[in-house]
Amino acid sequence: MCTKKEVIIIGGGLGGLFTAALLSKEGMKVTLIEKNRTPGGGMQSYHRKNAVFDTDMHVITSMFEGSSIYRLCNYLGILNDIHIENVAQGISDKIYVAEDDFTYDILAGREGFIKSILHYFPNEEHDIRAYIDALDAITNEMDLFLLRSSKQNAFVQNKDFFMPADKFIAKYVHHPKMRNLMAYMNTLYAGEKDITPAYLHAVIAVLLQKGISRFKGGTFRFVEVLADFIRSHGGTIILGEGISKVITEGNNVKCIQTNAGRIYEADTYVSSIHPATLLNMLSDKSVMSKSYISLLQGLKDSQSAFIINIKLKENKFSYHKHSSYYFETYDSAWHSNRNGAITKFMFLTPPVLTQGEYAHTLCITIPMDWNEVAKWEGSTTGKRSKDYYDWKNKIVETVLTKMEKIFPAFREAIEFIDTASPLTIRDFTGVRHGAMCGYKKDVNNFITSHLPVRTRISNLLLTGQNINIHGFCGVILTSLQTCEEILGPNYIIDKLNVKA
Ligand SMILES: Cc1cc2nc3c(=O)[nH]c(=O)nc-3n(C[C@H](O)[C@H](O)[C@H](O)COP(=O)(O)OP(=O)(O)OC[C@H]3O[C@@H](n4cnc5c(N)ncnc54)[C@H](O)[C@@H]3O)c2cc1C
Repeated sequence: MCTKKEVIIIGGGLGGLFTAALLSKEGMKVTLIEKNRTPGGGMQSYHRKNAVFDTDMHVITSMFEGSSIYRLCNYLGILNDIHIENVAQGISDKIYVAEDDFTYDILAGREGFIKSILHYFPNEEHDIRAYIDALDAITNEMDLFLLRSSKQNAFVQNKDFFMPADKFIAKYVHHPKMRNLMAYMNTLYAGEKDITPAYLHAVIAVLLQKGISRFKGGTFRFVEVLADFIRSHGGTIILGEGISKVITEGNNVKCIQTNAGRIYEADTYVSSIHPATLLNMLSDKSVMSKSYISLLQGLKDSQSAFIINIKLKENKFSYHKHSSYYFETYDSAWHSNRNGAITKFMFLTPPVLTQGEYAHTLCITIPMDWNEVAKWEGSTTGKRSKDYYDWKNKIVETVLTKMEKIFPAFREAIEFIDTASPLTIRDFTGVRHGAMCGYKKDVNNFITSHLPVRTRISNLLLTGQNINIHGFCGVILTSLQTCEEILGPNYIIDKLNVKA
């Protein structure tokens, strides 16, 4: 049986859901197909005993009034249904450096950020202001980031744009400690020395400085809001059915087949899953050029992560609005956690809906190379060997010992611990190598590590974290870009700007 639909979206993570929501609002008939029984991908939450943990996403940006994602949520009319907490005042980030046994407090907002840095480095005012101006100059080139109507054939003018992030920071910041501190957000986006492009660093830095927000009561609530929106606008969400085959005819996708054997047909197909995975599902790969196939197959993935989710005992550990970062040394920001040596991680206490003085849970995210788990890559959840669990326990023990440097009585506050490794992330989302941010954006192969939304197949488009920028803001903006490829250039952006 073939069911005729207008747009089929493959994958129901943030990218698939937001694309579906925007297209539904514009009157298109959308069917979203997700392999898991619950949508959300990296935005899912799960229950363990009496606790709710979020799978991946914790820190979100661009949700302050007037910011790009806030405006898009307003456009969908979902702002009142979203439960978030904005960190508008006080400390937004704490950076602990074990080398000096010292914690840097970073205040919320652009001016708060500058004030905090000047407090610790009073002689560096020229450098901090030059660095902030350089960040703005880069992001000012990005129409999509600012929801500006994009001009066709506009080329990037800014010379810093294509520099490696570490060289870009060093160009403006001369104090060695301060220079490394400017890269603390590498922990969030797996920034790498000589590889990560300056524009990626600039986007994340500007977003963090403009203001951090967190979901209250779990990221799944946002997923439910998007799913309700899609359904109430005539869309269909099919859960628990993975796409297994993409059947082409000439230069078009004719239909797709799920692992349940069902066939779905539409005019346009949008894939939010890993492009290399999608490629393997094509019935006839020859519709893609050989160079495009080798491009997709050759691209490297960004780092993954090891997650320690902790249920805290009642009234034992204070709730903190800020995120915290641990660095062994100042330059740990630029080094991977390799061979079991943990030199950097991020932790926070996610808020519940009615948050009081004490935290309920604490989540620790440790960026980690896939190589650390590669020897178990053939195993599946629940069927891994004892040495894998021994390795996981060792990581937990190492990290808890480091946490005790900051909170000496930390272990006494723990009720229980649940962990996820890069293997867990891969198995849950289907993301190759459990990549935290999709493909590795590499300044040395700029063109080949940046995929366009359009593919060589005329009615197949891409979206999600592998295109442009990962994360809450990046994935949503890419959804907008994908929608405008279908609806017409600046179709939604122009409406947003008229409204504003
Ligand atoms: C540990 C970790 C921490 C992170 N922390 C943050 C953070 O604090 N802030 C932030 O902004 N970003 C964070 N990120 C990044 C962010 O979570 C991702 O960029 C984002 O969730 C990606 O969304 P997506 O829709 O592109 O992909 P995904 O969420 O991976 O969605 C893809 C969906 O496709 C489904 N799928 C896969 N194969 C198939 C198939 N064959 N058929 C049908 N469906 C399929 C998957 O099940 C999944 O639901 C983090 C990532 C990780 C791993």
